[in-house]
Amino acid sequence: MKRAYSADTLIDCQLVADWLHGNGVPCEIFHQNALGAVGELPVTSPEVWVRRDSDLSLARQLISQIEFGDSDKTIFCQHCRESNPAGFDICWKCQLQL
Ligand SMILES: [Zn+2]
Repeated sequence: MKRAYSADTLIDCQLVADWLHGNGVPCEIFHQNALGAVGELPVTSPEVWVRRDSDLSLARQLISQIEFGDSDKTIFCQHCRESNPAGFDICWKCQLQL
């Protein structure tokens, strides 16, 4: 297994893990229980690890699509972070402007 991603928040890691799973890359979230109570700093950042080492470069590519956006494929809502197909003006989930 290899670490593909780490984030300040578990939500970010879950988004990445869901995205990787959706693209056929099995992965796990580690340190998801490391966060303290609300308002406390996390002891260890949550991390996403790919199960197969050979998936690491693919995983990094997919993650870069989330981080930098990929206008040809998917737009991530700034409000609820749901993914929307390119060309949508309004988020299908929360109905706010993309
Ligand atoms: Zn939304």
